[in-house]
Amino acid sequence: MNISNRRISKHLSLRNDLVGLLPYESFDTPVPVRLNTNENPYEVPELVKSAVVESVESAVSGSNRYPNDNFLSLREHLANYIYTLEKLRFSADSIIAANGSNEIMLEIFQAFGGPGRACLSFSPAYSMYPQFCRDSFTTLVEVPRVPDKFTIDIEKAVKQIQETAPSIIIITNPNNPTGTYTCTDNLRKILQAAENTPVKGADADARAVVIVDEAYSDFRDSTHETSLKLMSEFPNLLVVKTLSKAFAFAGVRLGFAIASPDIIRALRIVRLPYNLSTITQAVVIAALKHAPEMLGAVEEIKRERLNMFDQLKYLKYQGEPFLVVPSQANFIQVGFSSNLPNYQQLPEELHAYMLKNGVLIRRVGAPGYFRVTIGKPQENEHFITILKLWLNN
Ligand code: PMP
Repeated sequence: MNISNRRISKHLSLRNDLVGLLPYESFDTPVPVRLNTNENPYEVPELVKSAVVESVESAVSGSNRYPNDNFLSLREHLANYIYTLEKLRFSADSIIAANGSNEIMLEIFQAFGGPGRACLSFSPAYSMYPQFCRDSFTTLVEVPRVPDKFTIDIEKAVKQIQETAPSIIIITNPNNPTGTYTCTDNLRKILQAAENTPVKGADADARAVVIVDEAYSDFRDSTHETSLKLMSEFPNLLVVKTLSKAFAFAGVRLGFAIASPDIIRALRIVRLPYNLSTITQAVVIAALKHAPEMLGAVEEIKRERLNMFDQLKYLKYQGEPFLVVPSQANFIQVGFSSNLPNYQQLPEELHAYMLKNGVLIRRVGAPGYFRVTIGKPQENEHFITILKLWLNN
């Protein structure tokens, strides 16, 4: 039964703005090739599995008590992890963690959004941002990205920041669903505009917090920089990361943010107490001790991304080449040419054909586009084979 398609009874005093809405729909039906949710396709390595099991065994006996609410040890391990990844050192009091980066971002919206305030984002962007706005009563203002390139038009962005005077600016980098990367110089311009713009609906001295959602940053090429480099220049910058993607831990639910201790203190006001269970803390600490093994497939996924990109580039639908967007993430956004009269319906048709053949892709983003996650080599090959069959039909 699909519970998400059931309407909510009129006899419930549901908030007026939620009436008629449906919950987020996750696709839980088993499908052999799942290229829809941007997970790392490789299971947790055996060595790490044993370490995690051992750690849970010792943690579980203390589970009659509430968990350590301060989770200093976890935050220190996260600080070391960031150092291993980026060679940048942050103190544990610059870090906060939650059950996935979605939870962290909701906390940010609860603390810095609110009625009479706005959040600026660059669309198409991650599909949960509108929900964070809705749930925190923040107005969402979307600045469209450049058509078909999906980069941010910086002049337009700066102008929009000045006009909207938002309390939150959010940038996904690399962007989901487009895979495009915003370079440090452009991020700096956005941060500077935020620094120079008083926030509507706040104290005259208040300036927007700028969230860079780096969920997929570990898949970027080494020529691109992390926005953590800008942290010392901009006290209102918040970088959000997750263990759900490159780190292959989507099922564990652990996201974290790096920001000034002041911002972290603000987030602690809205955070639910004891949000990270004793078991989550034990599991994550054990796995972080094996970070290189957990990240072991990243280079292979990047090679496969290139391979997939090269193959997609040469495919055509009714003589029109696919629009394949260069990606710095573990997925690729692909579009049908707008010269095709029915280009907006084609992702839907392809999705249905793929599903019939055991492959799950995602219809998301700009009209006429779909997104495919990079899987294991044989999964990617299977996707290309089914795609060619569909094209030759
Ligand atoms: N940010 C982006 C851009 C995402 O695509 C996702 C997951 N799809 C998340 C954040 C949330 O990840 P999680 O809650 O698993 O950390």
